[in-house]
This record gives sequence, C-alpha cells and structure tokens, in this order.
Amino acid sequence: MLPTRGYATQSSTDKLESFSFERREPGAREVVIEILFCGVCHSDIHQARNEWDNSIYPMVPGHEIVGRVAQVGAEVTRFKEGDLAGVGCFVDSCRACANCTEGEEHYCVKHLASTYNGTEMDEQTPTYGGYSSQIVMDENYTLKIPDGLPLEGVAPLLCAGITTYSPLRRFKVSAGQRVGIIGLGGLGHMGVKLAASMGAEVTVFSTSPSKEEDARKLGANHFVVTKDPASLEPLANSFDFILDAVSASHDLNMYLGLLRREGVLVLVGAPEKPVEVQAFSLITNGRNLAGSMIGGIRETQEMLDYCAEHNITSDVEVIPIQQINEAYERTIKGDVRYRFVIDMKSL
Ligand code: NAP
Ligand code: ZN
Repeated sequence: MLPTRGYATQSSTDKLESFSFERREPGAREVVIEILFCGVCHSDIHQARNEWDNSIYPMVPGHEIVGRVAQVGAEVTRFKEGDLAGVGCFVDSCRACANCTEGEEHYCVKHLASTYNGTEMDEQTPTYGGYSSQIVMDENYTLKIPDGLPLEGVAPLLCAGITTYSPLRRFKVSAGQRVGIIGLGGLGHMGVKLAASMGAEVTVFSTSPSKEEDARKLGANHFVVTKDPASLEPLANSFDFILDAVSASHDLNMYLGLLRREGVLVLVGAPEKPVEVQAFSLITNGRNLAGSMIGGIRETQEMLDYCAEHNITSDVEVIPIQQINEAYERTIKGDVRYRFVIDMKSL
C-alpha cells in the first residue's frame, strides 16, 4: 500500500484537518499521480457539510486534480513517468452500460465511482479525493493535460470547465446567440469565458455589483445586478440559452421569463433545496428546462484541448492547504476571484 497524506473532514460539522491514509498499489493498467494542484469546487463544500444528504466520512474532498505521473503499471500505454495528468469528478464506471459504451461514463447506470465521497467499483472501498499527495488511477479515466498552460489555472477545468463546456456544446451554442450566465463563481466565470470564445453575446446575472469589471474582462458583453428584479424586465423573451451556476436557492421563474421561443435554461448549480417552477414559466414560448452533470472522459479531453487551443484557463487564487477552511467560508460568501486552488506542495 502507498502511504498518503491529505486533508479530511470527519463529520458535517468538523473542519478539514490533516489526515493520513493508504492508496492501493497501482495495477498493470494504472498510474500513480503526484498531485500538484487541486481546485476547490462548491460541491466540495456541499458534500463536506452533507448538504446533499449523501456524505461518507472521513471525507477527503477534491475533484479538480492536476499532477505528474510518478509511476506506471506494466501495461500502461497512454502515459509515461513524468507526464502531466488530470483527474476530474470520477475515477471509474461500469464500462458496459449503454452510457459508458457511448462515452458518457458520468451517467453510468450501474455505478459511478466518484473521485471522493463514493466507492470504487466494488461498491465498498471508499474513494478519497484530490486534497492529498497522490492518487492511483486507471489510465483510461485519466486526462492528458496539454502543454503550455499554467497548471494552477488548468485544475478547475476538470470540473468547472467541463460542467460549463458540455451543455454549451449539447445545446449548440454558436456565434451571435444570446447567452446568459447566472452566478459569477467558479463555474460561472468558466461559462463566460467559454461562451464568449464560441462567439456568443454573453450577459452575466450576478448578485455582486463589484464583479462587473471582471465580468467584462472575462468576455461578457452585459452585466445585470439581480437584486432588483425590475432590472430583468427589459430582457424578457430575448435569450437563446441560460446557464444557471448558482450554489444557493433562488427564483428560477424570473430567469425562465428571459428565454425566447424554445430557448433553454440549463441547471448546473445544485442547491440543497428543491426548485419551484411555475407551469407558465415553461409553457409560454415553449421553453425548455434541462440539467447537466460534468461530462464524459472523451468530452473532458476535447474541452482540455479546446482550452489549450483558445488559451483558456481558470482565474485562480492559489492557497496553501492550511487555508482550506477559510477558503470554504469565503467561497460561500462569493468572495473568490474566481476559484481557490490548493498548491499541494504546502501539504
Ligand atoms: P461558487 O464558486 O461558490 O459560485 C456560485 C455563485 O453563485 C457565487 O459566486 C454567486 O455569484 C452566486 N450565488 C451564491 N449564493 C447565491 C445566492 N444566495 N443567491 C444568488 N446567487 C448566489 O460555486 P461553483 O463551484 O461555481 O458551483 C456552483 C454550483 O454548481 C454548486 O451548487 C455546485 O455544487 C454545482 N456544481 C454542479 C456540477 C454539475 O455537474 N452539475 C459540477 C460542479 C459544481 P454572484 O456573486 O455573481 O451572484
Ligand atoms: Zn466540482
């Protein structure tokens, strides 16, 4: 077994603290990755605090992982020692169901082995995430990291990047379309960068007036402060696509009213309470409400290559792991520009 250091929480109310555990020896098709950077996703906070009511403890969060391959199994062909490697929100899946065989492993119908707060394919062994010194991965669930990008800015692409890229592609967002992004956080700021790179006319809907200048630098054409619902009225029936990346409960009906005929609002934010939708918010204009969860391995690799080609990475605040509890509090307050990323050297 491989002795591994990390940070874990022991219950929904504990702080994260130093934690030692063991990873398995790599199998013939597995790699050991020395973790360099790990992003701090709001999902880490929801799960550390059991806000989705599915938490397993001790929990080592972290699913935006970039590192370097330190060891390869005898049959590994895609990686060699010293290569950069990435890990996103899952480490394995059944590989046999229709969704897995179509490259949509994240929707595996049998068992998705989440990177943390989950179990391996035996459905028993707990998984531990990226707030740790190393991880052992099947090479086929490991992403290749393109050269030339700042690695701390690449880490958040493994969740925030793919979660926003995938619905933009699925709903074929294209040049000239009017796109709204609700919530300028880790996901939202990637949504702005990606939609702008696809030629969309981007509007940010935010509760934070102080983020306007940043939003424009990230590529937004318009910025709307949502505290006053009257500010949305002139925008009714005008958007092709809206991505909702808000982490807390809020009124969806007000945003559905902004969609033009057959427009679509995609929920990626996952607040703990159910959302209320009025029938007429959808019936009017034949509107669509959809959801989306991360993306498969093939599309995640496509997104990484797309980001390299368009020179897109996340705007980050790099922190030592010792500041993780404070980073959670600041993320909840929307006080991060725009993703905390842990420098794992500090561990
Ligand atoms: P984040 O960095 O904390 O950003 C969330 C943003 O939502 C904040 O920056 C803030 O933006 C806005 N917001 C926060 N509280 C609000 C409130 N009470 N009312 C209105 N707006 C509020 O979070 P994140 O990491 O981007 O994650 C966002 C959500 O997506 C989380 O629920 C997370 O679990 C979920 N998620 C889903 C997937 C998926 O696969 N679907 C993947 C990753 C994460 P403003 O300051 O601009 O208002
Ligand atoms: Zn995430």
